[in-house]
Amino acid sequence: MSEAPERPTIPPARFGERIERARAAAGRAGFDALLVGVGPDLEYLTGYRAMPLERLTMLVVPTAGPATLIAPRLELTPARGCPAARGGFVELAGWEETDDAIALVAELLARALDRSVGSIDRLAVSDRLWAMHVLRLIDRIPSARLESAGPVLGRLRSIKDADEIELLRLAAAAADRVVARIASGRLVGRTEADVAREVRERLLAEGHELAEFSIVGSGPNSASPHHEASGRVIQPGEPIVLDIGGSLGGYGSDITRMVWVTGGDPAKGPDEAFLHLFGVLRTAQARATAAVRPGIACEAIDATARSIIDAEGYGERFMHRTGHGIGLEGHEDPYLVAGNRDPLQPGMAFSVEPGIYLEGRYGARLEDIVVCGPDGPIVLNRAPLDLLIVDGV
Ligand code: ZN
Ligand code: ZN
Ligand code: ZN
Repeated sequence: MSEAPERPTIPPARFGERIERARAAAGRAGFDALLVGVGPDLEYLTGYRAMPLERLTMLVVPTAGPATLIAPRLELTPARGCPAARGGFVELAGWEETDDAIALVAELLARALDRSVGSIDRLAVSDRLWAMHVLRLIDRIPSARLESAGPVLGRLRSIKDADEIELLRLAAAAADRVVARIASGRLVGRTEADVAREVRERLLAEGHELAEFSIVGSGPNSASPHHEASGRVIQPGEPIVLDIGGSLGGYGSDITRMVWVTGGDPAKGPDEAFLHLFGVLRTAQARATAAVRPGIACEAIDATARSIIDAEGYGERFMHRTGHGIGLEGHEDPYLVAGNRDPLQPGMAFSVEPGIYLEGRYGARLEDIVVCGPDGPIVLNRAPLDLLIVDGV
Protein backbone atom coordinates (compact mmCIF):
# COMPACT_ATOMS: atom_id res chain seq x y z
CA MET A 1 0.00 0.00 0.00
CA SER A 2 1.28 3.47 -0.89
CA GLU A 3 1.54 6.40 1.48
CA ALA A 4 -1.92 7.48 2.60
CA PRO A 5 -2.52 11.19 2.06
CA GLU A 6 -4.55 13.06 4.68
CA ARG A 7 -8.25 12.55 4.02
CA PRO A 8 -10.46 15.58 4.40
CA THR A 9 -13.46 15.32 6.67
CA ILE A 10 -16.54 17.38 5.99
CA PRO A 11 -16.73 19.99 8.79
CA PRO A 12 -19.96 19.73 10.87
CA ALA A 13 -21.06 23.27 9.94
CA ARG A 14 -21.27 22.16 6.29
CA PHE A 15 -24.16 19.84 7.16
CA GLY A 16 -26.05 22.77 8.64
CA GLU A 17 -25.51 24.69 5.39
CA ARG A 18 -26.64 21.74 3.30
CA ILE A 19 -29.83 21.35 5.33
CA GLU A 20 -30.59 25.06 4.93
CA ARG A 21 -29.96 24.93 1.18
CA ALA A 22 -32.16 21.85 0.86
CA ARG A 23 -34.90 23.53 2.88
CA ALA A 24 -34.75 26.66 0.72
CA ALA A 25 -34.74 24.68 -2.53
CA ALA A 26 -37.71 22.57 -1.35
CA GLY A 27 -39.56 25.77 -0.44
CA ARG A 28 -38.88 27.29 -3.86
CA ALA A 29 -40.18 24.11 -5.47
CA GLY A 30 -43.42 24.51 -3.51
CA PHE A 31 -43.00 21.63 -1.08
CA ASP A 32 -44.19 21.68 2.54
CA ALA A 33 -41.34 19.44 3.64
CA LEU A 34 -38.57 17.10 2.64
CA LEU A 35 -38.74 13.57 4.04
CA VAL A 36 -35.37 11.90 3.73
CA GLY A 37 -34.99 8.20 4.42
CA VAL A 38 -31.83 6.19 4.97
CA GLY A 39 -29.39 6.43 2.09
CA PRO A 40 -27.02 8.84 0.37
CA ASP A 41 -29.40 11.81 0.69
CA LEU A 42 -29.49 11.35 4.46
CA GLU A 43 -25.74 10.95 4.54
CA TYR A 44 -25.31 14.12 2.49
CA LEU A 45 -27.52 16.20 4.79
CA THR A 46 -26.52 14.82 8.19
CA GLY A 47 -23.38 12.72 7.83
CA TYR A 48 -25.42 9.82 9.24
CA ARG A 49 -24.73 6.52 7.51
CA ALA A 50 -27.70 4.71 9.02
CA MET A 51 -28.69 1.10 8.61
CA PRO A 52 -31.63 0.68 6.21
CA LEU A 53 -34.32 -1.04 8.26
CA GLU A 54 -38.03 -1.66 8.39
CA ARG A 55 -37.90 0.56 11.48
CA LEU A 56 -38.21 4.14 10.28
CA THR A 57 -35.23 6.48 10.40
CA MET A 58 -36.06 9.77 8.69
CA LEU A 59 -34.87 13.33 8.47
CA VAL A 60 -37.89 15.60 8.38
CA VAL A 61 -37.14 19.06 7.02
CA PRO A 62 -40.26 21.23 7.00
CA THR A 63 -39.93 24.41 4.99
CA ALA A 64 -40.78 26.16 8.27
CA GLY A 65 -39.56 24.98 11.67
CA PRO A 66 -36.65 22.89 12.82
CA ALA A 67 -35.25 19.85 11.03
CA THR A 68 -35.79 16.66 13.02
CA LEU A 69 -34.03 13.35 12.77
CA ILE A 70 -36.47 10.61 13.70
CA ALA A 71 -34.89 7.34 14.75
CA PRO A 72 -35.93 4.20 16.62
CA ARG A 73 -34.82 4.44 20.22
CA LEU A 74 -32.36 1.59 19.80
CA GLU A 75 -30.59 3.60 17.06
CA LEU A 76 -30.51 6.88 18.98
CA THR A 77 -26.88 6.60 20.04
CA PRO A 78 -25.43 6.51 16.51
CA ALA A 79 -28.05 9.04 15.33
CA ARG A 80 -27.01 11.45 18.09
CA GLY A 81 -23.39 11.01 17.07
CA CYS A 82 -23.83 12.20 13.48
CA PRO A 83 -22.24 15.56 12.60
CA ALA A 84 -25.56 17.32 11.99
CA ALA A 85 -26.85 16.28 15.43
CA ARG A 86 -23.59 17.10 17.18
CA GLY A 87 -23.57 20.49 15.47
CA GLY A 88 -27.12 21.18 16.65
CA PHE A 89 -28.54 21.41 13.12
CA VAL A 90 -31.17 18.76 13.70
CA GLU A 91 -33.35 17.88 16.67
CA LEU A 92 -33.60 14.24 17.61
CA ALA A 93 -36.87 12.36 18.11
CA GLY A 94 -36.72 8.76 19.22
CA TRP A 95 -39.62 6.37 18.97
CA GLU A 96 -40.37 3.24 20.97
CA GLU A 97 -41.10 -0.18 19.52
CA THR A 98 -44.82 0.27 20.27
CA ASP A 99 -45.04 3.77 18.75
CA ASP A 100 -46.36 4.54 15.29
CA ALA A 101 -43.36 6.28 13.71
CA ILE A 102 -45.35 7.50 10.71
CA ALA A 103 -47.87 9.14 13.04
CA LEU A 104 -44.92 10.87 14.66
CA VAL A 105 -43.88 12.24 11.25
CA ALA A 106 -47.42 13.53 10.62
CA GLU A 107 -47.60 15.24 14.03
CA LEU A 108 -44.20 16.77 13.60
CA LEU A 109 -45.16 18.20 10.21
CA ALA A 110 -48.45 19.56 11.47
CA ARG A 111 -46.73 21.25 14.40
CA ALA A 112 -43.89 22.73 12.32
CA LEU A 113 -46.20 23.98 9.57
CA ASP A 114 -48.84 25.07 12.08
CA ARG A 115 -51.55 23.24 10.17
CA SER A 116 -53.72 20.21 10.65
CA VAL A 117 -52.43 16.91 9.30
CA GLY A 118 -55.35 16.98 6.85
CA SER A 119 -54.09 20.13 5.17
CA ILE A 120 -50.55 19.00 4.49
CA ASP A 121 -50.12 19.42 0.79
CA ARG A 122 -46.93 18.54 -1.10
CA LEU A 123 -44.18 16.38 0.36
CA ALA A 124 -40.85 15.55 -1.28
CA VAL A 125 -39.62 12.06 -0.39
CA SER A 126 -36.09 10.84 -0.99
CA ASP A 127 -35.68 8.33 -3.81
CA ARG A 128 -34.29 5.66 -1.49
CA LEU A 129 -37.17 5.78 1.00
CA TRP A 130 -38.59 2.29 1.07
CA ALA A 131 -42.02 1.76 -0.48
CA MET A 132 -43.31 0.33 2.83
CA HIS A 133 -42.70 3.72 4.47
CA VAL A 134 -44.03 5.68 1.47
CA LEU A 135 -47.23 3.65 1.46
CA ARG A 136 -47.79 4.24 5.16
CA LEU A 137 -47.22 7.96 4.65
CA ILE A 138 -49.90 7.98 1.95
CA ASP A 139 -52.29 6.23 4.33
CA ARG A 140 -51.53 8.53 7.24
CA ILE A 141 -51.50 11.85 5.33
CA PRO A 142 -54.04 11.28 2.54
CA SER A 143 -54.19 15.00 1.69
CA ALA A 144 -50.52 15.02 0.74
CA ARG A 145 -49.16 14.59 -2.72
CA LEU A 146 -45.87 12.71 -2.49
CA GLU A 147 -43.24 13.56 -5.06
CA SER A 148 -39.62 12.69 -5.60
CA ALA A 149 -37.08 14.82 -3.76
CA GLY A 150 -34.63 13.71 -6.46
CA PRO A 151 -34.69 16.90 -8.52
CA VAL A 152 -34.15 19.08 -5.42
CA LEU A 153 -31.50 16.98 -3.68
CA GLY A 154 -29.86 15.68 -6.85
CA ARG A 155 -29.14 19.21 -7.98
CA LEU A 156 -27.63 20.17 -4.62
CA ARG A 157 -25.55 17.02 -4.41
CA SER A 158 -24.31 17.35 -7.98
CA ILE A 159 -22.21 20.40 -7.12
CA LYS A 160 -19.26 19.25 -5.07
CA ASP A 161 -17.37 21.43 -2.62
CA ALA A 162 -13.57 21.38 -2.32
CA ASP A 163 -13.54 18.64 0.33
CA GLU A 164 -15.76 16.39 -1.76
CA ILE A 165 -13.58 16.96 -4.82
CA GLU A 166 -10.52 16.09 -2.78
CA LEU A 167 -12.15 12.80 -1.69
CA LEU A 168 -13.05 12.04 -5.32
CA ARG A 169 -9.45 12.81 -6.29
CA LEU A 170 -8.08 10.44 -3.65
CA ALA A 171 -10.51 7.72 -4.76
CA ALA A 172 -9.46 8.24 -8.39
CA ALA A 173 -5.76 8.10 -7.52
CA ALA A 174 -6.27 4.84 -5.64
CA ALA A 175 -8.15 3.33 -8.59
CA ASP A 176 -5.39 4.54 -10.95
CA ARG A 177 -2.81 2.62 -8.93
CA VAL A 178 -4.92 -0.53 -8.97
CA VAL A 179 -5.30 -0.36 -12.77
CA ALA A 180 -1.53 0.04 -13.15
CA ARG A 181 -0.85 -2.95 -10.90
CA ILE A 182 -3.39 -5.19 -12.62
CA ALA A 183 -2.22 -4.25 -16.11
CA SER A 184 1.40 -4.98 -15.23
CA GLY A 185 0.67 -8.31 -13.55
CA ARG A 186 -0.10 -11.77 -14.88
CA LEU A 187 -3.35 -11.96 -16.82
CA VAL A 188 -2.99 -14.73 -19.41
CA GLY A 189 -4.30 -18.07 -18.16
CA ARG A 190 -6.27 -16.55 -15.28
CA THR A 191 -10.03 -16.35 -15.15
CA GLU A 192 -11.73 -12.96 -15.31
CA ALA A 193 -13.21 -13.72 -11.89
CA ASP A 194 -9.76 -14.30 -10.41
CA VAL A 195 -8.52 -10.97 -11.77
CA ALA A 196 -11.69 -9.27 -10.48
CA ARG A 197 -11.04 -10.67 -7.00
CA GLU A 198 -7.52 -9.22 -7.10
CA VAL A 199 -8.95 -5.86 -8.20
CA ARG A 200 -11.28 -5.81 -5.19
CA GLU A 201 -8.49 -6.75 -2.78
CA ARG A 202 -6.25 -4.04 -4.19
CA LEU A 203 -8.97 -1.38 -4.02
CA LEU A 204 -9.42 -2.18 -0.34
CA ALA A 205 -5.67 -2.19 0.25
CA GLU A 206 -5.54 1.25 -1.40
CA GLY A 207 -7.92 2.68 1.17
CA HIS A 208 -11.35 2.03 -0.34
CA GLU A 209 -13.89 0.95 2.27
CA LEU A 210 -15.97 -0.62 -0.50
CA ALA A 211 -14.87 -2.33 -3.72
CA GLU A 212 -18.23 -2.25 -5.41
CA PHE A 213 -17.57 -3.41 -8.93
CA SER A 214 -14.87 -4.96 -10.98
CA ILE A 215 -15.70 -5.55 -14.61
CA VAL A 216 -13.09 -7.73 -16.28
CA GLY A 217 -14.29 -8.41 -19.82
CA SER A 218 -11.84 -10.35 -21.97
CA GLY A 219 -12.02 -11.19 -25.67
CA PRO A 220 -15.65 -11.28 -26.87
CA ASN A 221 -16.79 -10.36 -23.35
CA SER A 222 -15.24 -6.91 -23.87
CA ALA A 223 -18.14 -6.22 -26.25
CA SER A 224 -20.70 -6.41 -23.40
CA PRO A 225 -20.70 -3.07 -21.53
CA HIS A 226 -21.78 -4.42 -18.15
CA HIS A 227 -20.24 -7.85 -18.40
CA GLU A 228 -19.62 -9.39 -14.98
CA ALA A 229 -16.30 -11.10 -14.50
CA SER A 230 -16.83 -14.74 -15.45
CA GLY A 231 -15.01 -18.05 -15.39
CA ARG A 232 -13.57 -17.36 -18.85
CA VAL A 233 -9.81 -17.85 -19.04
CA ILE A 234 -7.91 -14.89 -20.52
CA GLN A 235 -6.06 -15.79 -23.75
CA PRO A 236 -3.11 -14.17 -25.47
CA GLY A 237 -4.07 -11.91 -28.38
CA GLU A 238 -7.19 -10.30 -26.95
CA PRO A 239 -8.37 -7.10 -25.32
CA ILE A 240 -9.59 -6.74 -21.74
CA VAL A 241 -11.94 -4.05 -20.48
CA LEU A 242 -11.04 -3.17 -16.89
CA ASP A 243 -13.83 -1.08 -15.36
CA ILE A 244 -13.36 -0.88 -11.62
CA GLY A 245 -14.42 1.21 -8.69
CA GLY A 246 -15.77 1.53 -5.21
CA SER A 247 -15.79 4.19 -2.55
CA LEU A 248 -13.21 5.89 -0.42
CA GLY A 249 -14.28 8.17 2.43
CA GLY A 250 -17.81 7.78 1.07
CA TYR A 251 -16.93 9.04 -2.42
CA GLY A 252 -16.82 6.94 -5.55
CA SER A 253 -14.07 5.87 -7.90
CA ASP A 254 -14.85 4.60 -11.40
CA ILE A 255 -12.22 4.10 -14.08
CA THR A 256 -12.07 2.11 -17.31
CA ARG A 257 -8.89 1.24 -19.14
CA MET A 258 -8.17 -1.10 -22.04
CA VAL A 259 -5.49 -3.74 -21.86
CA TRP A 260 -4.31 -5.95 -24.74
CA VAL A 261 -2.48 -9.12 -23.74
CA THR A 262 -0.02 -10.69 -26.17
CA GLY A 263 1.25 -13.53 -23.99
CA GLY A 264 4.73 -12.37 -25.03
CA ASP A 265 4.08 -13.35 -28.67
CA PRO A 266 4.75 -10.38 -31.00
CA ALA A 267 2.34 -11.93 -33.53
CA LYS A 268 -0.50 -11.61 -30.98
CA GLY A 269 -0.65 -7.82 -30.86
CA PRO A 270 -3.82 -5.87 -31.62
CA ASP A 271 -5.10 -6.13 -35.19
CA GLU A 272 -5.61 -3.10 -37.43
CA ALA A 273 -9.38 -3.11 -36.92
CA PHE A 274 -9.03 -2.96 -33.15
CA LEU A 275 -6.42 -0.22 -33.33
CA HIS A 276 -8.76 1.80 -35.52
CA LEU A 277 -11.68 1.31 -33.19
CA PHE A 278 -9.53 2.21 -30.20
CA GLY A 279 -8.17 5.32 -31.92
CA VAL A 280 -11.69 6.57 -32.62
CA LEU A 281 -12.71 5.89 -29.03
CA ARG A 282 -9.64 7.64 -27.65
CA THR A 283 -10.40 10.73 -29.73
CA ALA A 284 -14.07 10.70 -28.75
CA GLN A 285 -13.20 10.43 -25.06
CA ALA A 286 -10.60 13.21 -25.30
CA ARG A 287 -12.85 15.59 -27.25
CA ALA A 288 -15.82 15.03 -24.97
CA THR A 289 -13.60 15.73 -21.95
CA ALA A 290 -12.14 18.86 -23.58
CA ALA A 291 -15.67 20.15 -24.23
CA VAL A 292 -16.41 20.29 -20.48
CA ARG A 293 -16.93 23.84 -19.28
CA PRO A 294 -19.53 25.74 -17.25
CA GLY A 295 -22.71 26.45 -19.15
CA ILE A 296 -22.45 23.72 -21.77
CA ALA A 297 -25.46 21.39 -21.80
CA CYS A 298 -24.93 17.87 -20.45
CA GLU A 299 -26.28 16.50 -23.72
CA ALA A 300 -23.65 18.43 -25.70
CA ILE A 301 -20.87 16.43 -24.04
CA ASP A 302 -22.65 13.25 -25.06
CA ALA A 303 -23.14 14.61 -28.60
CA THR A 304 -19.44 15.48 -28.87
CA ALA A 305 -18.37 11.89 -28.20
CA ARG A 306 -21.20 10.44 -30.28
CA SER A 307 -20.57 12.55 -33.38
CA ILE A 308 -16.97 11.35 -33.59
CA ILE A 309 -17.99 7.71 -33.15
CA ASP A 310 -20.87 8.16 -35.63
CA ALA A 311 -18.63 9.71 -38.26
CA GLU A 312 -16.43 6.60 -38.21
CA GLY A 313 -19.43 4.34 -38.69
CA TYR A 314 -19.60 2.95 -35.15
CA GLY A 315 -22.67 4.96 -34.13
CA GLU A 316 -24.86 1.88 -33.64
CA ARG A 317 -22.11 0.32 -31.53
CA PHE A 318 -22.18 3.03 -28.84
CA MET A 319 -25.45 2.21 -27.11
CA HIS A 320 -25.09 3.91 -23.73
CA ARG A 321 -24.89 7.47 -22.48
CA THR A 322 -21.50 9.16 -22.28
CA GLY A 323 -21.43 9.61 -18.53
CA HIS A 324 -23.00 9.83 -15.10
CA GLY A 325 -22.42 11.98 -12.05
CA ILE A 326 -20.46 10.49 -9.17
CA GLY A 327 -20.21 11.33 -5.50
CA LEU A 328 -21.81 9.57 -2.55
CA GLU A 329 -23.40 7.33 -5.18
CA GLY A 330 -21.67 5.66 -8.10
CA HIS A 331 -24.35 6.92 -10.49
CA GLU A 332 -26.06 10.23 -9.66
CA ASP A 333 -26.82 13.60 -11.26
CA PRO A 334 -25.77 14.92 -13.70
CA TYR A 335 -26.27 12.38 -16.50
CA LEU A 336 -24.51 13.13 -19.80
CA VAL A 337 -27.22 11.90 -22.09
CA ALA A 338 -29.25 13.17 -25.06
CA GLY A 339 -32.23 15.11 -23.75
CA ASN A 340 -30.49 16.48 -20.67
CA ARG A 341 -30.26 20.19 -21.40
CA ASP A 342 -29.10 21.10 -17.88
CA PRO A 343 -25.93 23.18 -18.07
CA LEU A 344 -22.76 21.94 -16.44
CA GLN A 345 -21.78 24.01 -13.42
CA PRO A 346 -18.46 24.39 -11.67
CA GLY A 347 -18.04 21.62 -9.11
CA MET A 348 -20.05 18.99 -10.97
CA ALA A 349 -18.25 15.63 -11.07
CA PHE A 350 -19.03 12.92 -13.61
CA SER A 351 -17.61 10.17 -15.76
CA VAL A 352 -16.78 10.61 -19.44
CA GLU A 353 -16.95 7.06 -20.79
CA PRO A 354 -17.80 6.43 -24.40
CA GLY A 355 -17.55 2.85 -25.67
CA ILE A 356 -17.67 0.94 -28.95
CA TYR A 357 -18.86 -2.66 -28.90
CA LEU A 358 -18.71 -5.12 -31.78
CA GLU A 359 -20.88 -7.93 -30.50
CA GLY A 360 -19.34 -11.39 -30.64
CA ARG A 361 -15.92 -9.97 -31.44
CA TYR A 362 -14.59 -7.33 -29.07
CA GLY A 363 -15.21 -3.87 -27.73
CA ALA A 364 -13.61 -1.03 -25.84
CA ARG A 365 -14.48 1.69 -23.36
CA LEU A 366 -12.40 4.45 -21.77
CA GLU A 367 -13.52 6.24 -18.65
CA ASP A 368 -12.22 9.08 -16.53
CA ILE A 369 -13.81 11.01 -13.70
CA VAL A 370 -13.92 14.68 -14.61
CA VAL A 371 -14.85 17.75 -12.57
CA CYS A 372 -16.25 20.81 -14.30
CA GLY A 373 -13.78 23.53 -13.29
CA PRO A 374 -14.36 27.28 -13.62
CA ASP A 375 -12.56 27.37 -16.99
CA GLY A 376 -12.76 23.80 -18.23
CA PRO A 377 -12.29 20.16 -17.31
CA ILE A 378 -10.32 18.95 -14.31
CA VAL A 379 -9.53 15.29 -14.93
CA LEU A 380 -9.16 13.37 -11.66
CA ASN A 381 -7.74 10.13 -13.08
CA ARG A 382 -4.08 10.30 -14.04
CA ALA A 383 -3.58 6.80 -15.47
CA PRO A 384 -2.63 6.98 -19.18
CA LEU A 385 -5.54 6.43 -21.56
CA ASP A 386 -3.44 4.64 -24.18
CA LEU A 387 -4.11 1.03 -25.05
CA LEU A 388 -1.99 -0.89 -22.54
CA ILE A 389 -0.28 -3.58 -24.64
CA VAL A 390 1.26 -6.05 -22.21
CA ASP A 391 2.70 -9.56 -22.23
CA GLY A 392 0.39 -10.51 -19.36
CA VAL A 393 2.52 -13.51 -18.42
ZN1 ZN B 1 -21.77 1.58 -16.21
ZN1 ZN C 1 -17.04 2.44 -14.95
ZN1 ZN D 1 -18.99 4.86 -14.93
